[in-house]
Amino acid sequence: MASAARRAQAEAVLAIELGPRARFFLHQPAPGSPMGLVLDLVERRLGAGSFDLYWLDLGSPELFSLPGLSPCPVVYSRRHLSLSACVRRVFSEPSLQQVADECAEQLALKLMAEFALRRGHVDFAVHAFLKSIVGKGIWLDDGDQTLVLEQERKGEAYMAVWFYGLLHELGHVEAARRQQSGQRLLFSDTRALGFIDVALAQAVHYPAGLKNEIRQLALAERGSSMVGLDQLQCEASADMFAAELLLAATQAVMQQDRGDSPDTGRYLQELVLLTQVVALMDRCRGTATVACHAGADLRTMASAQLLLPPVANAARAAMVASFLKLLLARWAWGDGFSEAQLATAGVLVDAAYAQFAPRVDRVEAGLSNAMRFALRLVPWPSLAEQLQALRSELAMPLCLDETQRFCDLADQLGAEGEPLAALRTMVANAARTHH
Ligand SMILES: [Zn+2]
Repeated sequence: MASAARRAQAEAVLAIELGPRARFFLHQPAPGSPMGLVLDLVERRLGAGSFDLYWLDLGSPELFSLPGLSPCPVVYSRRHLSLSACVRRVFSEPSLQQVADECAEQLALKLMAEFALRRGHVDFAVHAFLKSIVGKGIWLDDGDQTLVLEQERKGEAYMAVWFYGLLHELGHVEAARRQQSGQRLLFSDTRALGFIDVALAQAVHYPAGLKNEIRQLALAERGSSMVGLDQLQCEASADMFAAELLLAATQAVMQQDRGDSPDTGRYLQELVLLTQVVALMDRCRGTATVACHAGADLRTMASAQLLLPPVANAARAAMVASFLKLLLARWAWGDGFSEAQLATAGVLVDAAYAQFAPRVDRVEAGLSNAMRFALRLVPWPSLAEQLQALRSELAMPLCLDETQRFCDLADQLGAEGEPLAALRTMVANAARTHH
């Protein structure tokens, strides 16, 4: 099939996936821009014409690829970028240490609400949004962050926020190719199970029976469960691709910008942070999907949603950490690095993970609260009560702005329904009183 026909076919699939009102376009970055440099590096690795990047300007926080198609379409959105920057603050800002759980819970609920809106599940979306905003005490700006980001130094943080998630998706193109050509997995089963054991050892609250079940699941549902050995290796190889290309891209951009090189410690910190950010956003998408679709089996699915991701993430992190040690040693000392140099890189990598561990636990607590709410493991307040509570809070400009933005997103996505109509009327009335 000619490339124009293939592209038209991919765009038709994306239009179904993103909804009829979505405005996405083929992204052609300016040569020499950070995006241009990143895509050049990826193309050199994957070959020309292996992927098409689509940019979604308005709409929900999308970032996904469809590796079944060739060239593989990858969708990246302004909203995903803005929310990533906001979630990163929750994981990293010193002033948010004591309230990271609360911030994470609110942001996670809002993410779920936005994913649900795109899928037309208006009731769930409004419930989750109201839960995220009513009684909120800490207001982080989660509006469009692209201008703020552009004023930042083009360094390790800028590059990670902009490109880690995108590079992970592009890593799936390589992983799919490896799978199709029947190449071996990265790790043997024994080694991969070893990483799962590392993760299970960290899950101190899991009873022994559950740990056994997860170990069995890893082998029995290799390609379908998120703890399945094939699935884990597929995700980990996309993570490794992203880690490697992010380092090379940061080097290229910093070299061009100010003639300097990335700082290893800072690169590692940002990498650890962004893997957490992307994992949180993925889990919100997964939870929203389950919350919208599961019927009677919600409880079974809910326990899988709550129990498996922490183990899968920790196993992936252990796989990626083993790779990062090699990557850094090679980057610093070339292919002929010594055992002692590898050990030095190992200390740096372990320190980067350890540094964020307490914050990750705090965020996990908040995320888990949001998931319990979404999966109806706690009773929902009535919509009328929540709307009533919001009415008085709309006097606050920050609250009014956020609610307005949610209504705007619903409009962009063509979402309709009674609870949305009630919300829109309240916003219109509050805005009138303000002006
Ligand atoms: Zn992935």
